Amino acid sequence: MKAQLSLLALALVLSASCNQGKQSPQREAGSQTAAVSPVPRFDAENAFRYLVKQVEFGPRNPGSAGYRQCLAFLQSELRTFADTVFLQTFPYRTSRGEPFLGTNVIARFRQNDKPAILLTAHWDTRPWADQDTDPKNYDRPIPGANDGASGVAVLLEMARIFSEARPPVNLDIVLFDAEDTGETGNSKSFALGSQYFAKNLPAGAQYRYAINFDMIGDKSLEIRREANSDAYAQALMDAVFSTARLLGFPQFINEPMAGIYDDHMPLNEANIPAIDLIDFGYPDESHRYWHTMQDTPDKCSPESLFAVGTVILHVLYGQGTQPL
Ligand SMILES: [Zn+2]
Repeated sequence: MKAQLSLLALALVLSASCNQGKQSPQREAGSQTAAVSPVPRFDAENAFRYLVKQVEFGPRNPGSAGYRQCLAFLQSELRTFADTVFLQTFPYRTSRGEPFLGTNVIARFRQNDKPAILLTAHWDTRPWADQDTDPKNYDRPIPGANDGASGVAVLLEMARIFSEARPPVNLDIVLFDAEDTGETGNSKSFALGSQYFAKNLPAGAQYRYAINFDMIGDKSLEIRREANSDAYAQALMDAVFSTARLLGFPQFINEPMAGIYDDHMPLNEANIPAIDLIDFGYPDESHRYWHTMQDTPDKCSPESLFAVGTVILHVLYGQGTQPL
């Protein structure tokens, strides 16, 4: 595992496009510059444009104009990149009892009929800023720049990359709806889109493992090892954090953090090993933009999306090194 990852890392640092702005001794070895890295460059600015674009639709809470516009945008964008795009709809009620029809968006990138890797994020945003410091905002929908748009932004940029340079694996990108209409303190009232998906996998779908992206846009990004991810998919966590260390991304901190019920959990419960990449301290333990009106693009950065996107691209394009 370790030796394999080191080989992967060597191949990666030979890429002149890799690791923007970072100097690496290996990169400057003239005799090696002819080597072609198999890992495409993650375009941080393009990913950040995807984040801003979603926020510009307005809040994407169920029933809103922003929700409808964003859903149309996600479909049209993914249709330009993926082999197949289809929707999975399901009826549900929010924790406040309002009935809606939820929509998961599924984009397929397939080379053969081998089991695929799932990349997931939630595209809906919370209808209520119930953690805001101002009680007048408790019933207002959040902008969801980090909580919602950031994960989707990374996956849209990855979809663009997959359309240009296929990774050596089959992939499904799934954008979950109805992640964030739950009642604080009641875990299972969250992640409804993922819960539905896990119980209603697309016909013939087989998955090796899943990576969920949530709240990964924070300017001061610190991703730690979420406990449920380690409980269900420790080998994948090891691969991700080792790759981040080898690439020199300080945003990944190889320390444990408390478990979170997020979109990865219904997948784990359906026997798909799934990890959650999340920075719940947004921006830190003493200040929280989470579920507030302050969750806006100025609190996020292209560099954070770049770190996450680049690490996971390296894992995906180096499949021979995967322990799973
Ligand atoms: Zn949320």
